[in-house]
Amino acid sequence: MSVSVWRDSAKGRDAVTVDVAVIGAGVAGIAVARQCEKRGLSCAVLEARDLAAGATGRNAGFAMTGLADSYESLVERFGRKTARELWLVSQANLDEIIDDVVGREGVACDLVPCGSVVAAWDERERAVLERSCAMLVHDGFDVRWLEGDALYAKLGSRAYHGGIFVAKDHGIHPVKLVSGIADNLAQSGVRLLFGHEVRSIEQARSQVLVRTSRADVTAGYAVLCTNAYTRTLEPALGALVRPVRGQALCLEGVDRSLDALLYTDDGFQYARPLPDGRVVAGGWRRAFADEEIGLADECSEGVQSGIERWLRERWPQWRDARVTHRWSGAMGFSPDGIPLVGTLADRPRVAYAVGFTGHGMGFAFAAARAALRRVLQEGDAGIFAIERLDRA
Ligand SMILES: Cc1cc2nc3c(=O)[nH]c(=O)nc-3n(C[C@H](O)[C@H](O)[C@H](O)COP(=O)(O)OP(=O)(O)OC[C@H]3O[C@@H](n4cnc5c(N)ncnc54)[C@H](O)[C@@H]3O)c2cc1C
Repeated sequence: MSVSVWRDSAKGRDAVTVDVAVIGAGVAGIAVARQCEKRGLSCAVLEARDLAAGATGRNAGFAMTGLADSYESLVERFGRKTARELWLVSQANLDEIIDDVVGREGVACDLVPCGSVVAAWDERERAVLERSCAMLVHDGFDVRWLEGDALYAKLGSRAYHGGIFVAKDHGIHPVKLVSGIADNLAQSGVRLLFGHEVRSIEQARSQVLVRTSRADVTAGYAVLCTNAYTRTLEPALGALVRPVRGQALCLEGVDRSLDALLYTDDGFQYARPLPDGRVVAGGWRRAFADEEIGLADECSEGVQSGIERWLRERWPQWRDARVTHRWSGAMGFSPDGIPLVGTLADRPRVAYAVGFTGHGMGFAFAAARAALRRVLQEGDAGIFAIERLDRA
């Protein structure tokens, strides 16, 4: 966004001093702030708009193990060890949400223990998923193959060709999750500064100066959690985070036959039941890959009607259901699909946790730990370390 001299000089500026300045109040920024609070580091979260204004407030609320890609394709791309580690890290991330954030910290976020099914769209996908299921079982994960009536009992549709069931996966209300954590943080003294667009980040010896539209923030460290929007603030890093638009809708007047989180068609289509009986579904960008890019918050006719057609064809009992909401959100895709954690080459006190590639709920809490570990020089960023791109 461009800034006129008038808007920049109309009001006085606040001065804020903290140990850590976090930029972006989505799930990643809130997860970093939570870690700061646990470590006794003072912290300010600087957000251009409002809490969860980005993808965090617009996602489908799948808190899942693994990625949308099949385990077999992860093994082919990264090797068996890394594929297994990705699953283990996402499992630990999920445990942190369920046991710590919800269990111990009391954040109410409509957690639904419905499990997930990655279902085969056709016979080709069935073969891939069956092999993936066997590898997952061999690698020690608690998953099982479903088909026939057992699959129907989870999906309420006979249109799928088998699927992998992960009992541990949960549905979640993503905005209640981050606002519940944010409320706890505010009570502990974390400053949540909304309407503060960050315009520059400078490092001078042992300090970082973050200039927002309304304040000068002096910090020991900064952590960038701007995901798809990174290019507007830090173009060099942002060049590695491709903004991809995701769209979703909410359907009311459906029966409760869908009883699990559903991913299908190589992870491109997804649907889930809500506790109030509605269904949230999204995807359909595979058919519009050249159009579904960028930061514009717009729904398109092609994607929205594709999602609707899919639901009405594969769940004929939902023929008369009504769409109550349609929305879009900007996801940040990393070059290899794994989140990126590191520090800026010319400002080592500035870390980042970006590029969640459609899996922020599944990785943000783990990536937040990694970003702090990295910037505080306590260790590397593990599986998220950006250095892997140099080795690829
Ligand atoms: C339709 C859809 C469905 C999805 N479904 C799922 C799902 O079911 N499960 C899942 O795990 N993931 C899902 N995702 C992806 C998930 O939403 C993201 O991976 C996650 O929200 C990323 O969180 P974040 O905090 O990194 O980014 P965001 O939530 O995008 O937050 C970035 C924040 O930075 C702020 N910001 C940007 N620039 C500045 C600046 N200069 N100064 C201050 N603030 C700034 C933005 O305003 C924004 O609030 C989905 C995404 C979409 C769009």
